[in-house]
Amino acid sequence: MTFGETSLASSGRNIMKIDIYHKADADRKGEIDMKKIIVATGNEGKMDEIRQILQGENLEFSSLKDENMLDVEIIEDGATFEENAIIKARAISDLTGQMVLADDSGLEVDYLNGEPGIYSARYMGEDTSYEIKNNHIIELLEGVPDEERTARFVCVIACAFPEGRTITARGVIEGRIGYEEKGENGFGYDPIFYVPELGCTTAELPPEEKNKVSHRGKALTAMYDKLHKEGIL
Ligand code: IMP
Repeated sequence: MTFGETSLASSGRNIMKIDIYHKADADRKGEIDMKKIIVATGNEGKMDEIRQILQGENLEFSSLKDENMLDVEIIEDGATFEENAIIKARAISDLTGQMVLADDSGLEVDYLNGEPGIYSARYMGEDTSYEIKNNHIIELLEGVPDEERTARFVCVIACAFPEGRTITARGVIEGRIGYEEKGENGFGYDPIFYVPELGCTTAELPPEEKNKVSHRGKALTAMYDKLHKEGIL
């Protein structure tokens, strides 16, 4: 049986099944059956990290740019990282009929009741520089002692399957808000995110070191395990 040869292909629910039968056929014939996963991001850095962690022999990752879908507008109006990641993955999967991965991430500062949280990118306005955002957070925490400066980066990866099911995986890195910006690597809130165990901010880590301990790295590893259990990786 080959992909698209059967009337089952018209039923969304069975697309994954057909793919699996097709893989078995291909394996018998010694052919390579490439399975496509669309990653709902336009960010090449994220694509590289996802390719590194989820790499599998028969997997092909495609970005929104590859799919000519960079201008698709998705309203992320969820109340949690999980909801927003699912909204993104589901929207692109419904449009393409493919398996889709999407992530949502942000910084939670305990002293600020979890802010900026899911609003991390939009905090103080999307176009406001991170130098301004970071220094604003430092000011809000003026005089706050070390033990109350706790914070975490959270990342949730969602995988939407064409038949309508969605699974999620969460990764977290715990740290503290520093007293000044430090480090030139990374992006966003990295210069104020101090990790006591490492003795530096995530902006002071080389990218490979950050990937090993980061929220996104952990969420991707957890997603790898789940996709492996699903028989996809
Ligand atoms: P998004 O999930 O790519 O939309 O990211 C949400 C926002 O969270 C980013 O724009 C950053 O403000 C923040 N953020 C997420 N991950 C990191 C990180 O690893 N370092 C610094 N900031 C981050």
